[in-house]
Amino acid sequence: MTSGGRRPALLVHVCCAPDALYVLGLLREAYEITGYFYNPNIQPPSEYELRLRETMRVADILGLPILEGPRDFDRWSKATHVFRDEPEKGRRCDICYALRLFETARLAVETGKDAFATVMSLSPWKKADVLNRIGRMTGRRLGIGYLEADFKKKDGFRKSVVLSKQHGLYRQDYCGCLYSKRSERGAESRSRGDIGGGGGGGLG
Ligand code: SF4
Repeated sequence: MTSGGRRPALLVHVCCAPDALYVLGLLREAYEITGYFYNPNIQPPSEYELRLRETMRVADILGLPILEGPRDFDRWSKATHVFRDEPEKGRRCDICYALRLFETARLAVETGKDAFATVMSLSPWKKADVLNRIGRMTGRRLGIGYLEADFKKKDGFRKSVVLSKQHGLYRQDYCGCLYSKRSERGAESRSRGDIGGGGGGGLG
């Protein structure tokens, strides 16, 4: 609680429905939550639409606002192109995290929030230490607090899988960009068909 007795207002970057359902459900106990779907990494467009639609179902389930950000695919593509051949968790991903966190922080400042955060650390494929370092740096740069977290801890990922299955949410099988869709791991997890991703559903 803030000194005025109200819950702090938090803008939370969300990358997909399964992650949003678990993490926003957790955070709303302590924060006034607004979700922010800003994911110019997600391709092809049909996949973007599907993940957005499912995320908006989560907004209905939880009764929380979730905003859609601009579809800056060209910006994302230019920013990451030089590292297009890097494996997942490489430098392309660091830039991808940074762009999404920067835009979340920027909107949080613009809309008078107390802090910003992201659900992405829920995924076993996401580096929480890197996300948190980028979040801290971005927050310092823009003058807003960043909520550090590793939501996969305390069995968070498994719990999110159970929860998303209960609600019949779409669970993607690659992180989000076309590079990840073509990756070996993507192919492997698709054939396994068990864990979702995209920020999410475990993978994205
Ligand atoms: S693999 Fe995922 S985190 Fe990495 S660049 Fe692609 S969409 Fe972004």
